[in-house]
Amino acid sequence: TISISGLSKSFNNSHYVLENINLSIQRGEFFILLGPSGCGKSTLLSMIAGFIEKTSGDLLVDQEEVKKPGRNRGVVFQQADAALFPWLTVKENVEFGLKMKKTPKDNRNKISTYFIELVGLKGHENKFPRELSGGMKQRVQLARVLANDPDILLMDEPFGALDAMTRRTMQTELVRIWKETNKTVIFVTHDIQEALLLGQRIGVMSVGPSSKIDHIYDIPLAFPRSFTDKEFNRYY
Ligand code: ATP
Ligand code: MG
Repeated sequence: TISISGLSKSFNNSHYVLENINLSIQRGEFFILLGPSGCGKSTLLSMIAGFIEKTSGDLLVDQEEVKKPGRNRGVVFQQADAALFPWLTVKENVEFGLKMKKTPKDNRNKISTYFIELVGLKGHENKFPRELSGGMKQRVQLARVLANDPDILLMDEPFGALDAMTRRTMQTELVRIWKETNKTVIFVTHDIQEALLLGQRIGVMSVGPSSKIDHIYDIPLAFPRSFTDKEFNRYY
């Protein structure tokens, strides 16, 4: 469970980007954060991840105050370039967390092979990030985070750089994995259709006259959680 109350953030003591945010996300939920560019989605996600510090308020993950990044939270960053290690190959990038956890080599190999294939990068295992397109790099990030098998997936516009077909495959795979593993997913997007298609609840962030977020409109969705190809085709 992620429990946020009275959470505020201002950078360098200037104006507030987020002020007095209250939000609670249950274990196993697929939660969408939707809002226009610059509204503070990445800031909020980074705080939950533990990469940036809150200014005030409470931010608890499983009853514990978030102070730094943790293995229970996996992050797909908006900027894939900044996320991948440029000196490591695709395979080494995907296996990085597993190596840190001292997963035996055979297992590591099995896991990375599985997820690299899942994101459609079979045959690119030994390439370096600089040899990949933006969308391919994003998929490497996705494979890496899934390989680490965290309880909570924090995803910042993970499919933003993908073409429509690949995006659709990745959406389907993500929902399948979510269903099979009971992970909590917080998924940031500014694509309303994607939000409606994937989410169980949508938190809509909107910037008011004071240009800060102090409320997230919490919209439960009536959409079925299993969608057919036909339903997908209505959107794309
Ligand atoms: P986008 O959809 O474009 O990614 P976003 O909703 O993710 O936008 P954020 O990146 O969270 O928006 O930024 C929210 C606000 O916080 C912006 O006004 C931005 O200028 C400011 N901001 C973000 N990071 C910093 C920082 N490190 N220092 C100062 N201001 C920052
Ligand atoms: Mg952002």
